[in-house]
Amino acid sequence: MAGLIERYRDRLPFAAGDPVVSLEEGSTPLVPAPRLSARIGAEVHLKLEGANPTGSFKDRGMTCAISAAVREGAQVAICASTGNTAASLAAYAARAGLRGAVIVPEGKIATGKLAQALMHGARVIALRGNFDEALALVRALADQHPIALVNSVNEFRIEGQKTAAFEIVEALDGELDALCIPVGNAGNITAYWRGFREVGVFPRMYGFQAAGAAPLVHGRRIEHPETVASAIRIGNPARWEQAMDAMTASGGTVAAVTDAQILAAYRLLAAEEGVFCEPASAASVAGLLAHGAGGAERIVCVLTGHGLKDPDTALAEAGSVIPCEPEMGAVERAVLG
Ligand SMILES: *Cc1c(COP(=O)(O)O)cnc(C)c1O
Repeated sequence: MAGLIERYRDRLPFAAGDPVVSLEEGSTPLVPAPRLSARIGAEVHLKLEGANPTGSFKDRGMTCAISAAVREGAQVAICASTGNTAASLAAYAARAGLRGAVIVPEGKIATGKLAQALMHGARVIALRGNFDEALALVRALADQHPIALVNSVNEFRIEGQKTAAFEIVEALDGELDALCIPVGNAGNITAYWRGFREVGVFPRMYGFQAAGAAPLVHGRRIEHPETVASAIRIGNPARWEQAMDAMTASGGTVAAVTDAQILAAYRLLAAEEGVFCEPASAASVAGLLAHGAGGAERIVCVLTGHGLKDPDTALAEAGSVIPCEPEMGAVERAVLG
């Protein structure tokens, strides 16, 4: 499959002949979730965005943001990140031959994401502060220097991410009642809604935030956001109004899910559907289980990132290994006992 700029160029701000930096992102699976469907009493599908090249949906926005940065002649790309934007920026910057710099909250990003950003050769800066402070700082820095800022305040990110809505509409022939999606900085829900509107399909948009990081639910900024779902640990979303507009205009809502609900959905997806996503991604399914989707018959839950991103949370939540002596009886007991 071609990358998404090539596939959707007529609906993206790229002309023929523009430079394209791609890892053939997009075209991710939309898989039915039979067990979850039975629990909900509706047809539920999972959009597996962890199948993107760096393991999250951020690659959709990054192919566009980095391609545009190259077109503009940028030498350096920067972002503030809870992890996945950093991993994605690092990979696409490496591919483009740009210098990548990422500012992450110190000690607050999942191990896999840190490994990716470092392996791809980005300059990784651990800020003694949270994501919201990191974003404010990179915005000011990009104002003063010729640096491409590729957070989702960058329009090209939203343009790239809207293509996931196109793919869902194509896969389901436009028959979709509701979309459930985790909300952090609120770029992705903004992008999906834009994509759906462009193709004239209007599912209800249900955005879910972690209870300890739910500014949209409370209608006010959260000074010290806290949740196990590090990718959505954000207290002051950049796309606040647009996200609220998507939910209101579509007849959906925003609601909170507790860490316990997120982790239960995380385990359920892995153990019952064979799908390993990261904790933040499971917020979409946790929200559907906790709040429903207004009687929708056909629902898509967006699973934003791959479970391997965050092995520490997985090991803390999963069963333990069974130690065993190297002899038949012991192995028999271990396997069949
Ligand atoms: C970035 C991210 C989110 C949140 O997306 P926003 O556009 O910031 O709302 C959710 N899940 C994962 C895995 C992410 O990386």
